[in-house]
Amino acid sequence: MISRGQFIKKIIQPIFLMSGINSMNSLKNFTDTLPRQNSLMPAVFIGHGSPMNGIEDNEFSNQWASLAKEIQVPQAILVISAHWYTLGTGVTAMDFPKTIHDFGGFPDALYQVQYPSPGSPKLANDIASMIHSTNVHLDHEWGLDHGTWTIVRHMYPHADIPVLQLSIDSTKSPLFHYELANELFELRKKGVLIIGSGNMVHNLGMVAWDKLSGAPYGYDWALEMNDKFKDLIIHNNHQPLIQYNQLGKEAMLAIPTPEHYLPLLYVVGLQDKKDTVSFFNDKPVGGSLTMTSVRLG
Ligand code: ZN
Repeated sequence: MISRGQFIKKIIQPIFLMSGINSMNSLKNFTDTLPRQNSLMPAVFIGHGSPMNGIEDNEFSNQWASLAKEIQVPQAILVISAHWYTLGTGVTAMDFPKTIHDFGGFPDALYQVQYPSPGSPKLANDIASMIHSTNVHLDHEWGLDHGTWTIVRHMYPHADIPVLQLSIDSTKSPLFHYELANELFELRKKGVLIIGSGNMVHNLGMVAWDKLSGAPYGYDWALEMNDKFKDLIIHNNHQPLIQYNQLGKEAMLAIPTPEHYLPLLYVVGLQDKKDTVSFFNDKPVGGSLTMTSVRLG
């Protein structure tokens, strides 16, 4: 059980310099050195929920661990986290990204967690080069925020796979994010696991704090939008997902601010026609949140 105060998180918005894109063509591209895979790497949207999922063995975190066992071991992991919501698009480009504890009021054990995975400056450079719709800043300040490490530490506890983050430009439209994802598609052919980390339904202002634990509980509008999102995803009907602000008042309740929803658009933007679509952790929490997660491929 956590309190409302414990759930308050801080969104940091570093200002990226929009000039000086680094193409570094003298370095051999990292992705050139990766063997082409026989099958596409899955792309996954994961509802991350409370930071406490990072240290709890519960139904959600157990499912994340199971997912890692079901799929091929990735060459690297790229996470689009709701908690790196910035001006401009950035990609972490350091050798060793630090573990960021970007929340307040949680038990000390959560602040003690370190996830010492390597980064990959070469892959960061490749990603910056393959995105043409915007300049991508090679970032050396961020690291792995809780939208990333709370999930990935359950999936890959040995922290031996490079993990990078791509930030979400808060100034851009939903369509921009969907289309940017398409520019990353090649990574799926090279064994890079792309994870969008957010929550499809995420309204912290309306959480029923007395119903966070116990039986799953969702308000009618939250359950309705959860079903609506799943229906659109399974039918590859992406246009309404992009234009979610035209889905009525229930959608406005589900998505009062876009940062936890936009990672979903990155994942559906990576969808291949042949992908199988499946859902997991399909449950509401505290009335106004859903943990519903999507696996493509
Ligand atoms: Zn979050």
